[in-house]
Amino acid sequence: MRFDILTLFPNLVDSVLSESIIGRARKSGYLTVYAHNIRDWSEDKNRRVDDTPYGGGKGMLMAAPPIDNCYRAVREQILTENPDSKQRFVYLSPRGSVLTQQKAQELAQYDNLVLLCGHYEGIDQRIIDEIVDEELSIGDYVLTGGEIPACILVDCVARLVPGVLSDASCYENESFADGLLEYPQYTRPYEFHGMKVPDVLLSGHHANIEAWRRERAEELTQKQRPDLWQKRKEETNR
Ligand code: SAM
Repeated sequence: MRFDILTLFPNLVDSVLSESIIGRARKSGYLTVYAHNIRDWSEDKNRRVDDTPYGGGKGMLMAAPPIDNCYRAVREQILTENPDSKQRFVYLSPRGSVLTQQKAQELAQYDNLVLLCGHYEGIDQRIIDEIVDEELSIGDYVLTGGEIPACILVDCVARLVPGVLSDASCYENESFADGLLEYPQYTRPYEFHGMKVPDVLLSGHHANIEAWRRERAEELTQKQRPDLWQKRKEETNR
């Protein structure tokens, strides 16, 4: 899968996405990630990319032309590489709908995601109206820029791409997979600060272990995420 990130801080994105599992998957060719500097597409002699908002107000806005130029150039590269590429253009924005595991699964079906990172007070609305397919937020809070949200999106989508995790079953029982949070897990030592691993996990009885995990997952979800629990109940009653 190919990710193209349009940003004013390509090094930030590249450094985060060069480590650990994502870094290895890039080296092994399961993922390609390109960080494109929007500033390279400014038509201004001083490479400016921002301006004051019409109607007044504090702060600066990222202007439309450099973003538009950058997007069109990237899109051409993508289509040259793969004319049939199934592509989606996402603007990371606190105004978008909140990213969920289900959305990550949906996005993992594309060949290519182009991710736009805003900065300052955001971007000119006309980019959103004309070329963005979807606005996505990583939560109901405001960050200084879209680079960390873009890295979060790449991370959670990329781990669903075949080959990125050594074993696809890694995410089959994870939190959110079945509308539930994941059950508690333990590893050695058997006893830690007086707390022992639950006996059932040492029993070797797979059906009992499964039942125990299911109960704990339900219990945890009810306690820690009543909203998820309610949603799951509504969906199973439908
Ligand atoms: N003025 C904007 C507003 O009130 O909605 C906030 C702009 S924010 C300071 C600058 C950039 O950070 C945004 O354009 C967006 O790309 C990114 N950003 C900030 N919070 C985000 C979030 N929760 N999810 C995704 N992107 C976010």
